[in-house]
Amino acid sequence: MPAPYTRGYHHTKSKGHESSVNCGYCGKVVPRWKTIPSYRGFSINDPVLRKQIDRRMISTYSQKMYVCPSCARYRGIVRVGRSRRKDRSGF
Ligand SMILES: [Zn+2]
Repeated sequence: MPAPYTRGYHHTKSKGHESSVNCGYCGKVVPRWKTIPSYRGFSINDPVLRKQIDRRMISTYSQKMYVCPSCARYRGIVRVGRSRRKDRSGF
């Protein structure tokens, strides 16, 4: 007789698939897949300065946040409906 055997399928399907996050601007709770990740703070435009500063430092100072689609569109983070690349119109 086989010994009792309990199978452990604990990691196959995680329940946190549809996790939701707060929008970084309006604070609305949005499903995570709908949001647009954005990094705010500490944007360096000066190339010389950017060279001097360690890249790890930048990632430390920049904060990742999730933005809901409406805010993203409003802030100009994304352009809705333009994500697909059209054929080259190289005339
Ligand atoms: Zn928002």
